[in-house]
Formats: sequence, C-alpha cells, structure tokens
Amino acid sequence: MKEALWWHKEDDGRILCTLCPRFCRMGDGQAGFCYIRKNIGGKLYSLGYGTSTGFAIDPIEKKPLNHFLPGSEILSFGTAGCNLGCRFCQNWSISKAKLDEAQSLSASPEQAIRNQVPSIAFTYNDPVIWGEFVIDISRIARERGIKSVMVTAGYITPEARPEVYRYIDAANVDLKAFSERFYHKLTFSHLDPVLDTLRWLKHETDVWFEITNLMISGENDDPDETKRLCHWVVENLGDSVPLHFTAFHPDFKLMDKPRTPAATLTQARRIALSAGIKYCYVGNVFDDEGQTTFCPACHRVLIRRSWHDIMEYRIEGNHCPCGQEISGRFTERRPAPYRSAPRPIVQ
Ligand code: SF4
Repeated sequence: MKEALWWHKEDDGRILCTLCPRFCRMGDGQAGFCYIRKNIGGKLYSLGYGTSTGFAIDPIEKKPLNHFLPGSEILSFGTAGCNLGCRFCQNWSISKAKLDEAQSLSASPEQAIRNQVPSIAFTYNDPVIWGEFVIDISRIARERGIKSVMVTAGYITPEARPEVYRYIDAANVDLKAFSERFYHKLTFSHLDPVLDTLRWLKHETDVWFEITNLMISGENDDPDETKRLCHWVVENLGDSVPLHFTAFHPDFKLMDKPRTPAATLTQARRIALSAGIKYCYVGNVFDDEGQTTFCPACHRVLIRRSWHDIMEYRIEGNHCPCGQEISGRFTERRPAPYRSAPRPIVQ
C-alpha cells in the first residue's frame, strides 16, 4: 500500500481521484470503482501498489504487439480490480476481484532479469489503476535496460498521462468500439477520453503503440462503424499504427453472444486496408494472411506468423529488402523461427 498521486480533497471532505476520467469521490473508508484506491483517514491510498495477481512469460505477439521486438518474450503481470466495467471482460476473475480475493505476489524488474526476457508488460487488468507502481517499476526497468509495455484501455486523465507513461516504451490500446453507445452500455465508460489518449500518444510521446478492436457480433461489428474507426485512425494517428481486429469468445456477463466469425475479422481487415491503414491484423483465429506483415510498398511477406509463432522473418533492421521503412521497433538480430515451449517463471 502506498499513498496515491492524483487526488485532492473536496469542500465536503470527500476525496476526488483524478487518475482516470471516472473521477470517483470517496468518503472516509470508501474505495473507488476500481476497488484498489481507497480513502483511508482523509488520504487516498493505492492498495494494489507492489502486488501482482500472477505472472506469465508470454510471446510479445500475445499482447498483441506485432511491430515491437517481434519474436521476443515478455514477463506479464497485473493487479486486481479495473477502472472499466466491461461486461465482456475476458480476465474478469482478476479485474473484478478485490485485492484480498486475488493471489497477491510482489513484482519487480529483477524478475525480468532472472527470467532473461527483454520486456515487462503491465497487463491482464488496466494498469492505469496502479499508476504509481507502473512509474516506479518502469523507471527501474529502464535503468536496467528492460522495456516496459502497457496493455490498456487508454482511460486515463490528461493530468496523469505524462507521469504514468514517462518510462513506458510501448503500448497496446484497446479501442473497444467506435460508438459512445457501446462504451456507455458495455464498458461503463466513455469513448472520447480514449480517443484523446490515442492522439496524445501519437503526437506528444515517442511510445510505440498498436490498437486492438475486439469485435462482438451485433455490438461493434457493423461495417460502417469499422469504416469510421479506420478513417479516424488514418486522419488522427496516420496510416502506420498497426490495427488488430480480434475475436470475442462468450465470457463474464456476455454469455449470450456467439464467438466472432472469422469472416467478420477478414471483412474488417479489408475495410482497414481500403481506408489506407498499412498494417492490419486479425487475432484469436487462425488466418495466415491476416497474421502476416506485408511490405506496404512491394507487398512481399516480411513476417509470417502462425498464431503467436514467427515462421518467417525478412525485415532487415527496420526495412524491407526493397528499401521501404517498416514502422515499429525492430532488433537487428533475427528472432528464432519457432518459439520454444512455455517455460516456468523464476520468482
Ligand atoms: S482510478 Fe479508480 S478510484 Fe480513481 S477515478 Fe478511476 S476508478 Fe475511480
């Protein structure tokens, strides 16, 4: 537990948390919507500071990040609680847990060193809610030469963003839909602050980021909505931010919706490419073409993937052999063609 940043006392004595656009007001003894920020005796505390609900070593493609150190492994961890209320949450046992209901282990960059991975990911729930811990850990990670990744919904205030992202190298931002109706009804949050975070990441930071849109039948898969989303990305973020359309599976409160058909993702990818997006992928389904990185100039295959494995790799530095620059953060060293089997974590 640590005293929180980003709060002040209101005239009525309650605390206003200014970390995320939910702006919770908490009386003494009350916690915010995310469960892990609490008013204790007139001060706001981050209850989740330093505790993780678990660890895994994942392929970085699972975050998903396809243009950031492809083929590398990443140590992933998160805490309990969340500042969004997604009815389709696919990690709900963590995001809906209070801290004492989840397995709590301490997390540190040294674990990345011990496990010989080049990056760590703040993931599983939204890392915004333990922003103080993100800052402290990502700062130490940078000192140790380890990269830090946020997997986030981007629901954070302009006040907190510069500090939380100060030592962050890459992010995957969920753009859950392109309608306020969806955000309001299915996530209990709002669309505009997410768009604002995306613009800020692009224009005011050098954080590498990619976008994920989880497609749910009948809720956010209308081709017109996809078209509007893609045009917004091109106009506001440019044509080189990778966009991932991923398949939903029934979970949590949305058990009545079917799995997303692969054809829906293929159609969305076509719409994105027609809108001018250079790098578009599909996820959570087998689709060779939809998981391949093509050169936007000569159209040759640069990275061929099978699910999260790299099968072929032809990028040289950050260029196609034809000379075209490929957006992203690539290493000079070619990754191993196949990923090794999952290995146990060294604590
Ligand atoms: S971070 Fe948590 S406590 Fe703060 S406003 Fe958001 S949901 Fe509320």
